Amino acid sequence: MKIGIPRAMSFYENYPFFYGFFKALGIDIVLSDKTTKKTLSMGASLVVTETCLPIKIFVGHVLNLIEKGIDKIFVPSIQSIEPKIYNCSKIRGLPDLIRNVVKKPFTMIEATFDKSEKNQGFYEFLQEIVGYFGIFDKNKIKEASKEGWKVYNNFRVMTNSGVPYKKALQYALDGKICLTEDTNEYPISIALVSHPYNIYDEKASMKIFDKLNKMGVKVYSALNLTREQMHEGLNTLEQSAYWANELEMTGCAGYYMKDQSVDGIITVTSFGCGPDSLMLERITRKSRQFDKPMLNLTIDEHTGEAGFITRLEAFIDMLYRKKRMLNFENADEQVMYQPNIKYIELSK
Ligand code: SF4
Repeated sequence: MKIGIPRAMSFYENYPFFYGFFKALGIDIVLSDKTTKKTLSMGASLVVTETCLPIKIFVGHVLNLIEKGIDKIFVPSIQSIEPKIYNCSKIRGLPDLIRNVVKKPFTMIEATFDKSEKNQGFYEFLQEIVGYFGIFDKNKIKEASKEGWKVYNNFRVMTNSGVPYKKALQYALDGKICLTEDTNEYPISIALVSHPYNIYDEKASMKIFDKLNKMGVKVYSALNLTREQMHEGLNTLEQSAYWANELEMTGCAGYYMKDQSVDGIITVTSFGCGPDSLMLERITRKSRQFDKPMLNLTIDEHTGEAGFITRLEAFIDMLYRKKRMLNFENADEQVMYQPNIKYIELSK
């Protein structure tokens, strides 16, 4: 038994769960290769131009799995994860979209998860998935889900403690756990507010974490926060959740907005994303109220890396200057905050 999982969309958050779950049921996982220029252009060539970048990337990953000869590919339809909290129409209709653009023979594992209209439970969703493999034993499925939660919880404990994404993922998949305390000193820290598929896909984000780290910037993201902290952030901005990914955007922005140790906020949004344009507008208004500098980077398949770097450098430079000025005004001991932006390599 083999299942193909596209390395895109909810993969970046949920893969640890499905790794533990499928492994416990004896189902082998085949992942698509990391996103490349080819993945992107193959995906983009099949959908209308207005489609957002993450969906184009997802289509490219499905094609990559078909090229690898995988005939069962996981394309769930995540409609709603909590009552009256919905995903965007592209995520909800992902199986329909794939069916209409990928005209190649394969079986799509298109289980639906809908907490609002169908009031479906998570186990029903899991049962629907493994039904494609002829597995119907409820106890077995429940036991396997416990294995999934184990891997997922270890992953989240590590990301919450500040372990970098790639390390946390690898450790969780290896069944290990590590907690780190970052003792490095960072003159500047920022919150990177975005969906995991925009910032942890190194091709889409043009390795933004590496670029910021090279500038001496400490980077926080939604994966460093618990759900409670993100709800706290939502309350801070006096917002309520409507979109399924509202917590990782508005909640995360709100939490770091009131955190005095965070110097600025960088949002990364995909061109053509409806929910992000609404959330971003509200976050931007509130950032003025909190006097928190903010930069929005919009990405699509035409985003040039040189321009991306220039905007990052200019923003970080401005944060350094702001900090320097505050330091001159307030401190007895004057520390010079100098940006380290001599040279940032273009990613390959
Ligand atoms: S939330 Fe935005 S970026 Fe994500 S799939 Fe929907 S439209 Fe695309």
